[in-house]
Order: sequence, then structure tokens, then C-alpha cells
Amino acid sequence: MVGDLIIGSESHISVQSMCATRTQDVEATIRQIRLIEEAGADIIRIAIDSKKDVEALAQIRKSVPKARLVIDLQENYRLITLVAPYVQKVRYNPGHLHHHEKSTPVKDKVRFLTDTAKEFNLALRIGVNFGSLDPSKKNEAKKDEAEHTDAALASVREHIGYMDDFGFKNFVVSLKSSDPNEVIDINKAFAEEFSEIPIHLGVTEAGMLPMGEIKTRVAFENLLAIGIGDTVRVSLTLPNTEKNKEIEVGKKIIEDVYAGRFRSVPRFVQEGLNIISCPSCSRVENEAFVELAKKVKEVTSQYADKNLTVAVMGCRVNGPGETDDADLGLWCAPNHVNLKKRGELLGAFSYEEIVPKLLTELESLAK
Ligand code: SF4
Repeated sequence: MVGDLIIGSESHISVQSMCATRTQDVEATIRQIRLIEEAGADIIRIAIDSKKDVEALAQIRKSVPKARLVIDLQENYRLITLVAPYVQKVRYNPGHLHHHEKSTPVKDKVRFLTDTAKEFNLALRIGVNFGSLDPSKKNEAKKDEAEHTDAALASVREHIGYMDDFGFKNFVVSLKSSDPNEVIDINKAFAEEFSEIPIHLGVTEAGMLPMGEIKTRVAFENLLAIGIGDTVRVSLTLPNTEKNKEIEVGKKIIEDVYAGRFRSVPRFVQEGLNIISCPSCSRVENEAFVELAKKVKEVTSQYADKNLTVAVMGCRVNGPGETDDADLGLWCAPNHVNLKKRGELLGAFSYEEIVPKLLTELESLAK
């Protein structure tokens, strides 16, 4: 239950999105929540990383009293007690609970989260991303193509165990990757093992339109059609004024599945240049990110037939991890852009230098 909304069972498949504005820019965030609400969002997520963000949230809540808000927490899990009065749900990422307070066992941190969620009647999402997996699970996993899947499933199993130990039932699980086929496979495996747990579906960093919609559609059509998926989020790289499109695309895909209109092939076949980019959120380190992502798409079009992956990410939270598997990966800092080639850091470049540098590297890989 997210407030009055049921996720799972016979309830409709709910659609959600996330604000990309700076949370402390109260006016802009309220505007964006309204834009997403008007598009028909059931749930709206906001990132909270500091006490200042919580103060902003308190202001925001007054202007949008009816919105079902979910908070995205990263390392600073203790913020849950401060945000709890203003929201209906909290998402945490098992991979991020390892970074702060290293001497506190993760299980104790989860107990803190579930205790607060019980007290304030909140729902939780255990949100696992392939790009930010629990480091302890990653090391345990075999170094083959199933590494991500094994590590992600091991992590989610552990956290479901914690929920059971603490008698907490009001939760949903997500297992996301930027590869639609991985999303299909892992969610099928999860649904088989945990058929009673509601699932939040999403393809992370699906990128810009139209490819972002295509990748998401392939994953959702394959899963929703067999009854897997209870709430969805479409992650698209869009300017702030167009964030409503995430909701519109999500609703369109669900409508099509209900009506039996399938547009995708059974599997996603990646041919040619693959550009993945994050949808951005309040953590984005420079507002030039969306323009940079668009520019990367534009200037790399000459390599459209090369089987290479370029990742463009908005910040250091998920940037370093999500670029690990790309041939070339960029992530933004306030005044520079980091560039990685097949897992190895090449350096930091200014916003002016990065595009020519990327093209040089792409040319050498293409050759
Ligand atoms: S990479 Fe950073 S900016 Fe982009 S969506 Fe993830 S947390 Fe937000």
C-alpha cells in the first residue's frame, strides 16, 4: 500500500516517474510534480540526500498535498526518519547501504528502515540496479556473463530475508539493468522464485527517444504479457519540461499490452551503436547533462553501424558503476566530465573538450 494505492494483486499497473529538478529548487520541483501528476502519474519519486533536501521536501509537500510521494535514499539511510512524515514510500538500494557507517551491519540499517516504515505506515522498495550492486555479492559472483544476475538475485534474496526477519510485508522489489534482455531474464527468474512479491519494472538509462521507448517496450511487453510487473517506471533522458513523457510512454505501453497490440520482437536485438543515458534526477551534477547526452547522440551517428556501447550518466552516484560495461562511458561532475574506456578511467575533461575526445576514442575503437 502506497497511501491508498495498492501495488500488486488485482490492482491496475501503476505508473511512476522521478523528478529531475534540484530538490532544493522548491518552485521547479513543484512545477515538475504537477507536470507529472497531470500526465496521470500514480507515484512520484524525489531524491533526498541531505537535511536541506528534507527541508525543501517539507515545503514541496504543502503545495502538492495529494501526490503520492516516494523518496529515493542513497547512503544516508537515517534520513528516513526525517522524510517519513511527508511521504508514502521510500526506495533504498542495497548496493548503497555499504558506503556510510561501514562498521554498522547492513542488517541493522535495514532494521532502522523497516522500524521507521512501520511507525509511519510507509511502503519500501528494495531497488537493485545492475550498475550499483552490493559489492559483497559482486565479489562472490562468478566472473562470467551471469555475474550481474547472480549478484542481483543474491542481494535481493538477502534483503527479502531481512524483511521476513523483521516482519515487514509492505514492500516491492525492482531489479533493473540498462539491457532490456537482462531485465526480462532476471524478472522472470525473480517472479518464479517469489511469486507473491510485487514487482516494480524498469529499464535503467534507457536513454533518449525513440530508442529509450523501444528498449523499455521490449522489456515491458515480454514481462507484462505474462503477468510480471505491478508498477512501472520509464527512464528517459528528457529536458525538465518534458518529463511528463515518461508517464505517457508508460501508459501507452500498458494500454497496448492490455489490448494485445505488440510492437516489439520477442528479444531485443542490439545492432550497431548502443547509447545508454540516465534519465537525470536532482543529483545531476551539471544541468548541461541533457544537452551533452543529445550532442553525444548527434556526433556519434557516423558510427551507427559499429557494435559499440557509449554510456552517458549525470552524476557520480551511478556514473562510475553504470559505465563499467560500456566501451566508452562518461559521467558528469560540476565542472568536468569523466571518461572511461572499457572500465579504465582515461581522465577528466572540460565540457568543451569531452566531445572531441570521445570522438577520437570512438574512432580508434571503430578501427
Ligand atoms: S546517474 Fe545520477 S543523475 Fe543520472 S539518474 Fe542516476 S543518480 Fe540521477
